[in-house]
Amino acid sequence: MRARALRCMLGGMADYDVAIIGGGAAGLTLTHQLSGVNDRRGRPLRVALVEPPPGPHTPPPRTWCFWEPDGGPWDHLLAARWERLSVLGPDGTVHSSSAAPYVYKMLRSADVDAHVRATAGGDVDPLPLLVTGVRDGEGHAVVEGAEPGGGRRSLTAAWVFDSRPARPVPRGRTHLLQHFRGWFVRTSADAFDPGAALLMDLRPPQPAHGVAFGYVLPLSAREALVEYTEFGREALTTAGYERALRDYCGLLGLGEWEVTAAEQGVIPMTDARFRTRVGRRVFRVGTAGGATRPSTGYTFSGVRRQAAAVARALAEGRVPVPPVPYRRRHLAMDAVMLRALDTGRVGGAEFFAGLFGANRLGDVLAFLDGGSSLRRELAMGLSTPVAAMSLTTADQLWYSLVGGRGRGAVSPAPVPARRR
Ligand SMILES: Cc1cc2nc3c(=O)[nH]c(=O)nc-3n(C[C@H](O)[C@H](O)[C@H](O)COP(=O)(O)OP(=O)(O)OC[C@H]3O[C@@H](n4cnc5c(N)ncnc54)[C@H](O)[C@@H]3O)c2cc1C
Repeated sequence: MRARALRCMLGGMADYDVAIIGGGAAGLTLTHQLSGVNDRRGRPLRVALVEPPPGPHTPPPRTWCFWEPDGGPWDHLLAARWERLSVLGPDGTVHSSSAAPYVYKMLRSADVDAHVRATAGGDVDPLPLLVTGVRDGEGHAVVEGAEPGGGRRSLTAAWVFDSRPARPVPRGRTHLLQHFRGWFVRTSADAFDPGAALLMDLRPPQPAHGVAFGYVLPLSAREALVEYTEFGREALTTAGYERALRDYCGLLGLGEWEVTAAEQGVIPMTDARFRTRVGRRVFRVGTAGGATRPSTGYTFSGVRRQAAAVARALAEGRVPVPPVPYRRRHLAMDAVMLRALDTGRVGGAEFFAGLFGANRLGDVLAFLDGGSSLRRELAMGLSTPVAAMSLTTADQLWYSLVGGRGRGAVSPAPVPARRR
């Protein structure tokens, strides 16, 4: 620290090359990616990882799932992996096909946190600070916040990457929520196949708006993460999720079971445009920086692509603008899907059952992570309700050309207020 202070005094430099605000998926991934990266002059980057001390601003531990071929950089930390994946239609039809080259993987956020902090080089400073403001500047930005004891502290950094939830939340034309609660359950008899994950079970009763499904990730023959998820406009109460989860465990025929832990969340599913550059020296990353895929809520892969791009730019001495990690055409397709679901032009359960029933799982997963070809995507499009999707595509095009509601754009179907 003393050498750093001296370097700052002599060079008139900022305290840090990089300040990362938030030690969640985006902050940890970026810290990990920057550890050991040198700047153009061959000096290790000085990084501050700013995370509030444990308290109301710290998200509870969670699991992060994603898919990629075997041999990924987090493989040694995985809590579980599954090669056999399936989707169950509303009538119980099993859609199961090869997911190759992908394996579905689960990480626990606490394991990632411990690993990133343990392997961070000496040039990474973890700072417990509740950030209250970021000031942009020409030569550096200033991060201000409150220390655990209540004292004020500020630091300067050449580049700031902010992963705090964006306020206000960017608004698009369509704004749905992926909201869910998951139970880690333990059964008294063998009930799960630890090699097989159920990605979408569309048998639960469907809500009046959007779609509902179960999700089962077995951790052993007697343990699994069992989730109840909806894509819709309004989150449920915890009691509502618990009722739905109890019913779902009954549907799975688990026999006797107990809940050992729970996780709950709300992930935005929106066609809003996310800006990643919000100042000369300040950027947004993670969900706040558009890393959440609108049609799925998956974020972890996007966060990794953002972090890799930032690390490359810093090593090459370029302005490290994080990319929104999805292709424009995929975002446009997602906007159509979300719109079709929100207006009720397509029934969610039938839509997803049709998609997974008519296409190889590996191809659908490639598309959902942005790695598919246009030809394959067009073929996949034919397995969705073509008339409803074409009408919605035309509606979206009209909306973007004419530029807003009230000038020909179709407004969403009214949704009855509902809380379970
Ligand atoms: C329960 C749950 C499960 C999920 N599962 C998956 C999954 O399986 N796969 C997937 O791809 N996505 C998943 N997601 C979506 C997404 O990956 C996660 O929400 C992910 O954590 C988003 O990363 P992030 O860094 O953008 O935000 P976060 O991980 O939420 O990180 C934001 C960080 O900012 C910090 N912060 C907040 N305020 C301040 C402040 N004032 N000062 C300093 N720091 C602050 C917080 O402490 C937090 O660490 C899940 C989300 C939830 C809620």
